Amino acid sequence: MRAKPTRPIPVPTPLTQPFWDAARNGQLAIQRCQDCRTYFHPPTSVCMQCYSSRLAFEPVSGKGAIHARTIMHDGRIQGFGESVPFAVIVVELAEQRGLYLLSNLLDVPPEEARIGLPVEVDFEPMDGGFVLPQFRLSATMKA
Ligand SMILES: [Zn+2]
Repeated sequence: MRAKPTRPIPVPTPLTQPFWDAARNGQLAIQRCQDCRTYFHPPTSVCMQCYSSRLAFEPVSGKGAIHARTIMHDGRIQGFGESVPFAVIVVELAEQRGLYLLSNLLDVPPEEARIGLPVEVDFEPMDGGFVLPQFRLSATMKA
């Protein structure tokens, strides 16, 4: 019997490694310029506001709101076949306007991923010790 395909694991680069290390420790960390204090995601090698190269990862609240969403119905993508339909969301993090993180919304039917709803990060363990930051609707919205 063939093993069923598993969801692909992200491949960290030197620039993104701190993001994944933080996730493994149950923390959402976003790169921030140490001079002008602007956050960046995805990480960059130079601050796009002040051109500083003094960039470091800092923990953030893990709170935000759904900025955009789509629902994946196509089960042909290897490793995702058993998960469809699922919500792919763009979260605008609370720390900064326009600071976006692409993720999934867990726990609820994907059509409940509505733009503007508050969400909070959670951490989903994957194969090989990898941990993926994912989002759930904020507790106040579940009732
Ligand atoms: Zn800067």
